[in-house]
Amino acid sequence: MPFDTALTRRLGIQVPVVQGGMQWVGYAELASAVSNAGGLGILTALTQPTPEDLRKEIRRCRTMTKYPFGVNLTLLPTMVPPDYGAYAQVIIDEGVKIVETAGNNPGPIIAQLKKAGTTVLHKCTTIRHAKSAVKLGVDFLSIDGFECAGHVGEHDITNFVLLSRARQELGVPFIASGGFADGHGLAAALALGAEGINMGTRFMSTMEAPIHQKVKEAIVNAQETDTALVLRRWGNTSRLFSNKALQEALKVEKNSKSGDFSEIAPYVSGKRGRQVFLNGDVDFGVWYAGQVIGMIHDIPTCAELLSRIEGEALQAMKRTQSLSTDALASRL
Ligand code: NAD
Repeated sequence: MPFDTALTRRLGIQVPVVQGGMQWVGYAELASAVSNAGGLGILTALTQPTPEDLRKEIRRCRTMTKYPFGVNLTLLPTMVPPDYGAYAQVIIDEGVKIVETAGNNPGPIIAQLKKAGTTVLHKCTTIRHAKSAVKLGVDFLSIDGFECAGHVGEHDITNFVLLSRARQELGVPFIASGGFADGHGLAAALALGAEGINMGTRFMSTMEAPIHQKVKEAIVNAQETDTALVLRRWGNTSRLFSNKALQEALKVEKNSKSGDFSEIAPYVSGKRGRQVFLNGDVDFGVWYAGQVIGMIHDIPTCAELLSRIEGEALQAMKRTQSLSTDALASRL
């Protein structure tokens, strides 16, 4: 096992790579494939319409992998507010030991999970929020830079700065999220003080991702400039794939006189985005993608991907070591 970090030890995984929760993507097919490949697969709780459906999905995932997997529970504005406590209770009752939380006011949910002995990996986009989460007793932070897909926060700090600030300020181990799609990124994250990485968009373009082939091809064909930000006006800035649906949403954001969320709601609806993944019409609705979209050029299996990432990271570390050997020797 080439990597031995606080993350691999605590989660019982081989490769320090977490598959981040993704709405309408984080089903058992993907989570089990990532866990079987040595990383940590994650089911997305809110992709399941009810807590009971989540229970079934957890049980289905167990039949597909004998390795640990987690569940993501995101606490952000939704058009139909879910019963977060009931989702958390199902996670606890089903014996899932690792939860990725994200979003606003996570205190009560983190308390519920920690009381049950769950390992909590909390995702945040600022050091201030990370420090609050530390006070709540989280086990790991997932430091989410501005490059990421989905909810980027309102401060636009990229990971070169954010990860270094995490290393300087947090007394709790953290992983790097946003901007990671290969082993060079993993090596860089480890060098900056992280215990591993989180990837979302990269896992969408794998054989096992349960989304339409045309979406995977759109990812392969995209450039790093093919994402855009929406919902800043509503304090919920999100990075999405730059398609026709997003351009329409941006027009509404710019031109809305009332500033009422209901004006833009039909344009950013998750239900429409879900249809994209089912029918393969990439312009039908909005869907999340990170800037790494420009770095993705193929559709491997999760096992091929994680093995490649491991190899690339080792090569990158060897390269940096060889560059510094003489200098190091002269200082020893
Ligand atoms: P949805 O259809 O309810 O909402 C669509 C988008 O509008 C989301 O970005 C949502 O945050 C935002 N939104 C809804 N009401 C809002 C309001 N009053 N003010 C500002 N923004 C508002 O979303 P969905 O696709 O059913 O997803 C459910 C939740 O899960 C959302 O909060 C979504 O952002 C979140 N999510 C989770 C993940 C994950 O990895 N777990 C990934 C993407 C999105």
